[in-house]
Amino acid sequence: MADLTHPLSPLAVPDTERDDDASSWGRYPGHPQQRRRLWWPHDPVPWASRGGVLPRGLGRSYGDSCLAHGGTLVDVTPCARLLELDTATGLLTAEAGASLGAIAAAALPHGWYPPVVPGTRHVTLGGAIANDIHGKNHWSAGSFGCHVRSIELRRSDRAAPVRLAPGDPLFAATIGGIGLTGIIASATIALARVPGPGIVSRTHAFGSWDDYFAQAEEATRAHAHSVEWFAPGARGTVRGTFSLGDPAAGPAHWNAEPSAWGVVPFDLPAAATSGPAIAAFNAVYFRASVRAARRPRLVPVWPFMHPLDGCRHVNRIYGRRGFLQYHFVVPRGADRTEVPAILAAIADRGMRVFLPVMKQFGPVASPGLLSFPLPGTSVALDFPWQGDRLFRLLDELDARVADCGGRVYIAKDARMSGQAFRRFYPRWEELERHRDPAIRSHFWQRVTR
Ligand SMILES: Cc1cc2nc3c(=O)[nH]c(=O)nc-3n(C[C@H](O)[C@H](O)[C@H](O)COP(=O)(O)OP(=O)(O)OC[C@H]3O[C@@H](n4cnc5c(N)ncnc54)[C@H](O)[C@@H]3O)c2cc1C
Repeated sequence: MADLTHPLSPLAVPDTERDDDASSWGRYPGHPQQRRRLWWPHDPVPWASRGGVLPRGLGRSYGDSCLAHGGTLVDVTPCARLLELDTATGLLTAEAGASLGAIAAAALPHGWYPPVVPGTRHVTLGGAIANDIHGKNHWSAGSFGCHVRSIELRRSDRAAPVRLAPGDPLFAATIGGIGLTGIIASATIALARVPGPGIVSRTHAFGSWDDYFAQAEEATRAHAHSVEWFAPGARGTVRGTFSLGDPAAGPAHWNAEPSAWGVVPFDLPAAATSGPAIAAFNAVYFRASVRAARRPRLVPVWPFMHPLDGCRHVNRIYGRRGFLQYHFVVPRGADRTEVPAILAAIADRGMRVFLPVMKQFGPVASPGLLSFPLPGTSVALDFPWQGDRLFRLLDELDARVADCGGRVYIAKDARMSGQAFRRFYPRWEELERHRDPAIRSHFWQRVTR
């Protein structure tokens, strides 16, 4: 067993990474939220609050699944203690407010790493389970829920916490259960073996959709991690780069969580994400990526996995009105025609899209009821605020995505209709049956009313 005397005491969770205004990452919709912090996992929960309660992690969900309009957010981030790491098996038990960054920093010196990490390390263990998050290695590792071995859950209708394990229906409902089945107090996960804190990083360029899909097959066969940045062009053209990574050894000082190198100090004006600014950014980014493509490089794992973490408050570039991320997956087979067609439909409307990325999802099934990934191509698009015409376009895209058997990611959503939700997630009524009666979220009220 490892000594897990970790610098994250309950009072020392870095406040800079907390979302003290209790909005979500996209900052839409922006309702004022009441928040009650839990300092210890078994502290009393204000279950009887008017408007219900909702567990809350680091607020890195983009839309309203982490918001409790009219209710009380139960903030578990102070419960961030790492409780046990078996260095022989890689089983780690931690309180639900522990961030994946803190878990990685504690585990890396022992040759272990979280099995699945998202694009930011500032997400909690509870949030990672509740959204059943995926990483750049979905085709081989599946989603986060595939690696959860047990969950300690608190519910308003049970006097004592319940311990859940794979196979239990309440476990399946809690994986990807968007916080509705109870408050996760702690969990045990199986970490992944790694040779060290390094990544051998390669960048490959692609210049057409055929090229993309041909290289995607090779990427999933030959590399552990891949994420693809791209710039859709006129008349259905595309160009972009694969960012490929394979775990490697590296110097010991790479084990530590790096500090951010920059900050966006205030909300930027709309011009920062205007059409010309986005086109200029895409051109510079593409040239820089292609230059980097020449040879494999050994880099620290942190910036490879979480490039946006280098700059704090990066969501302020979208200004005061915030932004919407449209993150969808199209099943294998349909993806070769539907993904280009959806992007062409967006370009035809002249909508601005920032930081578009794709990832391939593989066949590893999640135990979760409302898990997002399915085998196919996933696409995430940031839309700066563009008024009602953006909402109309996204409604049309929802219908297209549902028609081909795909779905939109709840963690990123702030606007899908109840009808679209029921098509994307037909097992939602099973989750409703497992919902804690005292818990409700803005998202759930919106899509189930
Ligand atoms: C820059 C960036 C990159 C991202 N990249 C990815 C990615 O690559 N893949 C991906 O899948 N996601 C990605 N995300 C989304 C993020 O991983 C998820 O939204 C994650 O769930 C956020 O965790 P959190 O701790 O901030 O939880 P919050 O956003 O605070 O809450 C998320 C959900 O978890 C529930 N919850 C939180 N804590 C608990 C608890 N203790 N018990 C029960 N329920 C709880 C909440 O009720 C809510 O429904 C990204 C987000 C950002 C900002």
